[in-house]
Amino acid sequence: MSFLGIDKGGTRHTFALTTDKGEIVHRVQHETGRACGSCQMEDAQAEIEALHAVASELVQVAADRRAPVQSIGISFGGPVNAETGTTILSHHVSGWEGVPLRDLFEDWFGIRTRVDNDANVGCLGEWRFGAGRGCRDLLYVNIGTGIGGGIIANGQLVRGANNLAGEIGHTIIDSDSGVRPDGPPCTCGRRGCLESFASGPGIERRYHERFDQRLTCREIFINAMENDRDAAAIVEEAAHYLARGIGTAVSLLNPELVIVGGGVSEAGDSLFAPLYRLLQHYGFPQAGPVRVVPAQLGYDAGIIGAVALAMGTRQ
Ligand SMILES: [Zn+2]
Repeated sequence: MSFLGIDKGGTRHTFALTTDKGEIVHRVQHETGRACGSCQMEDAQAEIEALHAVASELVQVAADRRAPVQSIGISFGGPVNAETGTTILSHHVSGWEGVPLRDLFEDWFGIRTRVDNDANVGCLGEWRFGAGRGCRDLLYVNIGTGIGGGIIANGQLVRGANNLAGEIGHTIIDSDSGVRPDGPPCTCGRRGCLESFASGPGIERRYHERFDQRLTCREIFINAMENDRDAAAIVEEAAHYLARGIGTAVSLLNPELVIVGGGVSEAGDSLFAPLYRLLQHYGFPQAGPVRVVPAQLGYDAGIIGAVALAMGTRQ
């Protein structure tokens, strides 16, 4: 049998057919244009038609291989009602409000389909096929242009009442004398969220504010690794904020493992060494040291996660 994973990102749709071990046997990638002005509604409709067309091809490929698609998993780059498989909105393309994506796929193909947001899907992928294999309790943190996360507790993905569990990027870590949220503005409309300090753009902004020079996050990490004192100070500061946010989550959840993925996690030891050291300070001491490891799936995280979603959210 085969599984079909679909990673519907902002500007790229990736499709993969895999074996039941998650090995990719066929892959298709589509770049999509960013939406603009009056064409937005048509763009969502066009995306749905493109998803249908490519998925039809792959369902046929699987049938021709005598390994029919058992189930379909879709990673959606935006909030989703995972229970009904309905999208809430896309941050990139209008027209995705309230699209019953699961029902559309099940009507088209008669194959069981699951839909979830990209953070939960990334978490499921690392749990089933990546750094979290064999764990029953783990915390997944994705640090890129934003900070997202996912939680596995007692061998099951935790969704919360509105499928918004794991939003570690929007835990407020800074406050004005502890009375009201302070710090830089966040994409969620509040101030002082972890994301506003330690996401890629957050790190770049802090470097610019401190040293009046614009470097990309990647450049800051490279300079830090080459012992540039300014860059190292900013990376240490980012690790400090991350440790505060992740440490709070670790005290609450007592995971056996924290997996850090996303572009920022490619920084390597310049980030992981201080993060690990500082986390021991912020976590509940009686729980002992928690392991912190980089994600393993890298570029394929979305698509392999979608396949993991197709396979189910329990182990
Ligand atoms: Zn926020």
